[in-house]
Amino acid sequence: MPDRDPDCLFCKIVAGEIPSTRVAEDEHTVAFMDINPATRGHALVVPRRHSADLLEIGDDDLAATTAMARRVAARAKDVLGADGVNLLNCCGAAAWQTVFHFHIHVVPRYADDPLRLPWIPAPGDSDAIAATGAELAF
Ligand code: AMP
Ligand code: ZN
Repeated sequence: MPDRDPDCLFCKIVAGEIPSTRVAEDEHTVAFMDINPATRGHALVVPRRHSADLLEIGDDDLAATTAMARRVAARAKDVLGADGVNLLNCCGAAAWQTVFHFHIHVVPRYADDPLRLPWIPAPGDSDAIAATGAELAF
């Protein structure tokens, strides 16, 4: 996989060919503001090297991107007064991924913000949970 995909929006943002509001960067990652913020301060963290998603990204880039996401999260708490932070990764169109360059959403959370869990927690069938766990186990 080459470091860059010529058709990728986030590769263009990393290269500075498409404008973004950059908030941090290091050797391996870039953090910039999401243009459709879920809350005040919603940012995205991407590896400089292109990979499509969670299952494709290398362990080193994943670690670097996660570390930068944590730094952005801490900064959001410090300077924006966030009460908490969600990190979100979408892997695959069925999981809401729309840009196929791996990224972590850093969503600052405020006690009075309107976001809600996208599922309604309800107890599952214990046999089904155990059977699926057995399928997943490795
Ligand atoms: P996902 O749906 O997880 O793939 O997230 C893609 C995110 O990229 C969405 O939250 C979009 O709002 C955001 N986005 C799309 N285009 C841009 C852009 N040019 N600059 C910043 N964020 C963008
Ligand atoms: Zn890319």
